[in-house]
Amino acid sequence: MKQELIFEDLITVTQPSLPDFNSYIEHIKGIWDRKWLTNNGPLHEEFKEKLSSYLRTPNVELFTNGHLALETAIKSLNLTGEVITTPFTFASTIHAITNCNLKPIFCDVDPVTYNIDINKIESLITSETSAILAVHVFGQPCDVEGIERIAETHNLKVIYDAAHAFGVKVNGTDIANFGDISMFSFHATKVFHSIEGGMLSYQDESLSTKLRALKNFGMTSAEKVEYVGSNAKMNEFQAAMGLCNLEKINQDISLRKEVFYTYHEWLNKIDSIQLFNFENSITPNFSYYPILMDDYEQRNRLAMRLKEYNVVARKYFYPLCSQFDCYDFSIESTPIAADISDRVLCLPMYSELSVENAKQICEIIRYELGDEIVSRY
Ligand SMILES: *Cc1c(COP(=O)(O)O)cnc(C)c1O
Repeated sequence: MKQELIFEDLITVTQPSLPDFNSYIEHIKGIWDRKWLTNNGPLHEEFKEKLSSYLRTPNVELFTNGHLALETAIKSLNLTGEVITTPFTFASTIHAITNCNLKPIFCDVDPVTYNIDINKIESLITSETSAILAVHVFGQPCDVEGIERIAETHNLKVIYDAAHAFGVKVNGTDIANFGDISMFSFHATKVFHSIEGGMLSYQDESLSTKLRALKNFGMTSAEKVEYVGSNAKMNEFQAAMGLCNLEKINQDISLRKEVFYTYHEWLNKIDSIQLFNFENSITPNFSYYPILMDDYEQRNRLAMRLKEYNVVARKYFYPLCSQFDCYDFSIESTPIAADISDRVLCLPMYSELSVENAKQICEIIRYELGDEIVSRY
């Protein structure tokens, strides 16, 4: 331990970005006059329009959270049987598949992007397969063209869990425009948030009526219930928070970028740390800062040491979803995902993390790994 590097206040792995207090109050004032709190209120409609234009994607629907948005996406496409997906994701992805009475089939991931490996998808396709549910892990886009090719050949639907990927672009095209449907999470811990919240962007305009019904008990009018729906509507207070945060999203992302490259600069000389990189064709949102360590013990040791300095780093995603107690799957078919899960560690990353603090975190890491670095030479 190096005493002078200990942080006085806890540095969490993420911290919600809050708008100016008065700006939020201004946005919610009208709610008291209108007495319209939820069910497609005016703030909801304004938020929807602004998102569609910010993300340059024509069709969007808002939800009370990302998870219910994902379940609604699955239901809206009438999927059956098996869905090919990744075990290296947040619990929500796999729970959504399972809650819709479908079977997740785990495909291994690419060792560089941590995303579903498109070369391993086709061997998992059976007569039962109806869709691919891929995740843009840590905001790194999947091989969207490769996935589209496979889906077309085998007549499969494609859903993207884009919970981490708000504002990310591939060759200048926003990530919201790929696959049949993409789900974005606006949870407080994400790059962009509306306290809790979620959004679907979708290609087939005619899905709109069904998506809107599914999030409102399956009702298509006051006396007509066409679907076994759920309640997943976004309320006006969420929309107001989203509107405020949308005004400063570009600034938030550029602040994250500074933190990201500060870490990069200070950590890239450490042999036992593998950094997370983006190709030039990608416009990232810098949602997470994952590092890959040499092995499981070293990763766990570093996470524990960081705690002693008041720094919280998280093992995203460990364990793999296929290892959860509530499921009965094996991890043998996804050795690369298992290996990454054992070695990954996400460092603190949020827009208000100062460059100074990021440097200090790097100093701690270099100090704590010092013996290990020296012993390599
Ligand atoms: C956060 C997250 C979700 C769920 O979103 P909520 O808005 O929290 O319901 C789904 N998938 C991934 C990969 C996530 O990180």
